[in-house]
Amino acid sequence: MNDDPIRSVLIAGGGTAGWMAAAVLARAFGASLSIRLVESEEIGTVGVGEATIPQIRHINNFLGLDENAFLRETRGTFKLGIQFNNWARLGDSYIHAFGDIGLPLGLSPFHHYWLRAQAEGKRAPLWDYSLNAEAAKNNRFSRLERVGDSPLAGIKYAFHFDASLYARYLRRYAEARGVERLEGRIADAARRGENGFIEAVVLENGKRLEADFFIDCTGFRGLLIEGALEAGYEDWTRWLPCDRAVAVACRHGGAMRPYTQATAQRAGWQWRIPLQHRVGNGHVYCSAHIGDDEAAAVLLSNLEGEPLDEPRFLRFTTGMRRKMWVKNCVALGLASGFMEPLESTSIHLIQSGLGRLVSMFPDRRFNPALIAEYNRQSRFEFERIRDFLILHYHANQRTDSAFWRECAAMSVPDALAAKIELFRGAGRIYREHEELFTEVGWLQVMLGQHVRPERYHPAADGLAPQKLDGFLGDIRILIERAVEAMPRHEDFIARHCAAP
Ligand code: FAD
Repeated sequence: MNDDPIRSVLIAGGGTAGWMAAAVLARAFGASLSIRLVESEEIGTVGVGEATIPQIRHINNFLGLDENAFLRETRGTFKLGIQFNNWARLGDSYIHAFGDIGLPLGLSPFHHYWLRAQAEGKRAPLWDYSLNAEAAKNNRFSRLERVGDSPLAGIKYAFHFDASLYARYLRRYAEARGVERLEGRIADAARRGENGFIEAVVLENGKRLEADFFIDCTGFRGLLIEGALEAGYEDWTRWLPCDRAVAVACRHGGAMRPYTQATAQRAGWQWRIPLQHRVGNGHVYCSAHIGDDEAAAVLLSNLEGEPLDEPRFLRFTTGMRRKMWVKNCVALGLASGFMEPLESTSIHLIQSGLGRLVSMFPDRRFNPALIAEYNRQSRFEFERIRDFLILHYHANQRTDSAFWRECAAMSVPDALAAKIELFRGAGRIYREHEELFTEVGWLQVMLGQHVRPERYHPAADGLAPQKLDGFLGDIRILIERAVEAMPRHEDFIARHCAAP
């Protein structure tokens, strides 16, 4: 153990996480770091990940990927938000749209002015003031930076794409930058007697792959972080009770929507994700409340087009590794933990883990304070996302099934209980520095789930009534005009980034 730089990294596993890690490290460290990746074609990948959040654009920009080429390669479409159907009550629908809503006035967030208008009897939904929500509703898309010459921000977008094709694309990128790929099944990890650090990954054919630093991307198995280093797993099933998913792709049966759909079912929920060449569908469910056959039947009866393959079942335990970095090994992707794809956060968590890893990249001393800080930040990020997901389940008024009644009755983590309480009081939302979801994200899900503030901020009363009407009316007009001028989503794709 000394202050020498890390010279070699071995990435175990080549799913989305493994190839994202290979591409980012190759780009960040160039030839100064020797990077090898070992994966097994026989074992394969999970490969369901299809919906993302806008931060994905940062990693693509860091890698220097051309966005249109990336979309062609991964059969991608644009995503403006997530539509939640039947979550709080049967028949409900709201969108968690990316980007801002309205404009702040003075020091008060926009939604306090909207709450005042509601209190005065105006009925326009909050989402009338969201450019993303209006564009999504009308199936429109363009890469708009600003709304005309107004202070309103433009479109904020992410993508739907085939995660297996993304991994393949990044593999070509990484190999072109010197990453060496090895085929083989990992059997074991050899550890140093004096400190328990990993010395080498041992393949089934007996070959030893040595490195200074190891990145565990072996999926749910967590072969190194759990199998060798026994990091431990924190189970969050008591708050997020779904533990299985069944997925199937189908043909397009309608418009190519620029948003994900998440429709609550009797004991879980169903996703619908439009790609260029097919629609990805899946039913996430709670095995204590519904069997596999019925879950598959629910999925198949809610497809928009003909299925393209056989339904595929997956099992998972929601939670996180107690430590994501142990000794000389960091876990990324499913090896580090899993939360259902309700807010499309898994690929983002790989990306943010990588961002942290690059900025905290160690030397061979492996400073314990650095490792502790990495683990602290990772835990914080996971827990805040967990709380956001719990809000969708907990704040429901459905009485039609035991599953939803149990979710409404459960006790939630303290940080979430405090957030709900603050919002109920006077619409206040506070967010800590490293938290992923924005105030506007929390606002939409709170309101969508019928958590209503009792009051609004008193500063909103400072605006004369005609001025309030004018302010709100002007924003709606600007948004309507901007949306009218946008092309249809599929036309935009056909023009700029359709796969051949
Ligand atoms: P995997 O894809 O499992 O890859 C593991 C790798 O390790 C493979 O290459 C495998 O060959 C290798 N490996 C394993 N064991 C061995 C061994 N013994 N020897 C050699 N190699 C080995 N994320 C999103 O962001 N958006 C979504 O919409 C989304 N939807 C999801 C839906 C479901 C139902 C599930 C389960 C996940 C979803 N995810 C989503 C998560 C997303 O799929 C994963 O985060 C992402 O694919 C990363 O997976 P991974 O690379 O960590 O693991």
